Amino acid sequence: MKSSLRPSLVNGPFQDPALYVALRWQGDAILFDLGRIDRLSPAHCLRLSHVCVSHTHMDHFMGFDQLLRLTLPRDRSLTFCGPPGIIENIRGKLGGYTWNLTASYTLTLDVVERHEDHLARARFRASTGFAYEALPSQPAPPGALVDVPAFRIDTATLDHRIPCLAFRMSERRHLNVRTDVLADRGLRPGRWLASLKDAIRDGNGDAAITLPTGETVAASALGRELIIDRPGQHVAYVVDTRFDADNARSILALVRNVDLLYAEARFLDVDRDEADKRHHLTARQSGFLARVAGARRLEVFHFSPRYQGMAQAFHSEAQAEFRGETRLEDTERDAAWIAELARSAPAPAPCAAGEARA
Ligand SMILES: [Zn+2]
Ligand SMILES: [Zn+2]
Repeated sequence: MKSSLRPSLVNGPFQDPALYVALRWQGDAILFDLGRIDRLSPAHCLRLSHVCVSHTHMDHFMGFDQLLRLTLPRDRSLTFCGPPGIIENIRGKLGGYTWNLTASYTLTLDVVERHEDHLARARFRASTGFAYEALPSQPAPPGALVDVPAFRIDTATLDHRIPCLAFRMSERRHLNVRTDVLADRGLRPGRWLASLKDAIRDGNGDAAITLPTGETVAASALGRELIIDRPGQHVAYVVDTRFDADNARSILALVRNVDLLYAEARFLDVDRDEADKRHHLTARQSGFLARVAGARRLEVFHFSPRYQGMAQAFHSEAQAEFRGETRLEDTERDAAWIAELARSAPAPAPCAAGEARA
């Protein structure tokens, strides 16, 4: 079964960062960052259920107005998630317009801020002219951000001289029923299959499942016969952060073994001093983090416009480090944390036949 997550960058690698992830079956979509989004069609915008904003530097947030204008007539809510301060940022954006004609509109914007041990929340409704409404804050375990039936989003707070969120979106496991076995055994589908899947998801193999025939079987035995269990896909998004021990550890804890990592590469490694000063990653540093995390694929983007026309140099540098053809740990002998992280890298996952690691 194919993954239900279909990620694609909205813009070219020298333009504003924005990652659109469509959910194949639900029809919904998630957007990571909200720079310029002119290339996103109104139909794509209308599918959004969540927008996760890493931080509110302009190149990551200036698309808010355009998105709001396109979604204003819709009758479902849209949730924004971001670092501390995003509630005030959105309040300020909304305060910049006049809303005297929206009383009959049903659009609701919910905004969630990730704080250390809780989520602060607020609501803005078009029908009230987007007046600020405080919602009760929710205690939340570290890193948790969104948890809905189809997927979850976890986050890590990185240092970009301001807090900047990295994200990992995880699809739920696929539990598919073997209809050939059902037919062979003459079993009709029914609620018992949902109970079986729930028991497997909860790790409750001893649960007794009653078949349509009245027979009772342990979930573990029935699952082995009837269910194909495949892990869900994981996609991660990391931008605007400095290459230091704390950030690297936070990133690795979040993106370990993801299927696809989108990582910024603002500079080439020859300019790493400048990357350091500006709290950004180089292509090589992103390649290192992806390799050490055991990511299956890496895509770099958010290149500085000063390198216009040199996109291939970014891809080559990042992929060489990712594949281990160059090794940052061999050249950075005075940074013990780099060598230590390199030693923690998992063995490369075997690729499926015909699939390239890069
Ligand atoms: Zn930034
Ligand atoms: Zn940026």
